[in-house]
Amino acid sequence: MFTGSCLCNQVRFAFESRPTNVSVCHCSICRRTTGSAFGVYVKVSDVDLKLTDGADQLNSYNVTDKLSTRFCRVCGSTVFAQHADYPGFIYVTLGALAEGSDIRPTYHEFVGSKASWFDIQDSLPKFDEWSDGE
Ligand SMILES: [Zn+2]
Ligand SMILES: [Zn+2]
Repeated sequence: MFTGSCLCNQVRFAFESRPTNVSVCHCSICRRTTGSAFGVYVKVSDVDLKLTDGADQLNSYNVTDKLSTRFCRVCGSTVFAQHADYPGFIYVTLGALAEGSDIRPTYHEFVGSKASWFDIQDSLPKFDEWSDGE
């Protein structure tokens, strides 16, 4: 069982299955959303993901007509993202997972538009735009 929460702990979630797809996304949208060099997302089946607390505190923002983010209305933490081209999945922000999680990123995407001030230091697979992985 993996668990996580927003910064103020009012939104809490859990999922059972060990994820195999954990993307580090360097696109300009993720830079704005996170205020940092990239976003890190754990791909979880929407059947597996359980919102265990704070459903009434979740707001959503339509970034594009296909992409939306969900964040805590109290503390502003982005906890999930969803994309219409990938139905059935929720992208959980890796930073929202509980301390001690051993889930690790598996690849980088949108490296072609990454921040000029950030250098990737690991040897994970890199994709210029969307990954071709599941
Ligand atoms: Zn919160
Ligand atoms: Zn992105």
